[in-house]
Amino acid sequence: MFDWWRRRRDAHVLEHRAIPDDLWLATLAAYPFLKHRPLADLLALRELATLFLARKQFHAAGGLVLDDAMALAIAAQACLPVLKLGLGWYDGFVGIVVQPDQVVAQRAWTDEHGISHEGSEVLSGEAMPGGPIMLSWPDVAEAADSAACGYNVVIHEFVHVLDMASGNVDGVPPLPDRATRDHWIEVMSNHHHALCQALEAGVDTWLDPYAANGLEEFFPVAAEAFFVAPQGLREHHGEVYHLLAEYFGQDPARHAR
Ligand SMILES: [Zn+2]
Repeated sequence: MFDWWRRRRDAHVLEHRAIPDDLWLATLAAYPFLKHRPLADLLALRELATLFLARKQFHAAGGLVLDDAMALAIAAQACLPVLKLGLGWYDGFVGIVVQPDQVVAQRAWTDEHGISHEGSEVLSGEAMPGGPIMLSWPDVAEAADSAACGYNVVIHEFVHVLDMASGNVDGVPPLPDRATRDHWIEVMSNHHHALCQALEAGVDTWLDPYAANGLEEFFPVAAEAFFVAPQGLREHHGEVYHLLAEYFGQDPARHAR
């Protein structure tokens, strides 16, 4: 019943609120990594972005003025990870807050010795269970340039959403069976460990060192690279690339230039 109603509503959105051609083409031109896929997938991405825009609520903060091109840029990048998995993975939240710049967040935490700490952290994005997703617009806007470094704030935060779908923020999204889950943890842990060792030895790493902050950051950072610098990830972390290709149902390195 619900599925029928939803499909009907989706059909209505796709027919009446389709993304205009010029806006879509401008988005592909502005974020070239979106094109690393077969034409049929690109058409599916456009439909998914249309539905995403209809289902989510955007809020511009701090005096920022959000236009159609900005909302579409976020929607198209957010839909890349779920192109084959389905938009349903994002059903747990509706709000997306777009900030005019990075946000300084005050943090308080207790360490393993029971001692309290306070400090601040500069955020270009944040994902919380139940939403909203926070994004710094300048970081979103420079996605084409930062793709060479494997950096993408939108993909990072939305991959946190996929991770959180398991109920834990542990770098392991819901997977079909125990063997797949064990294999995921083994591959990700090995590459995370090797990254930490390289950083400790003062060696430059291809992957963003932020991935060393635990498996819960390794997964989103590796996923950023998978989508925006796929050939680099395949070359430097082949096992991680193949694991993510299997999970996301995509092989972007094959289509990247
Ligand atoms: Zn993160």
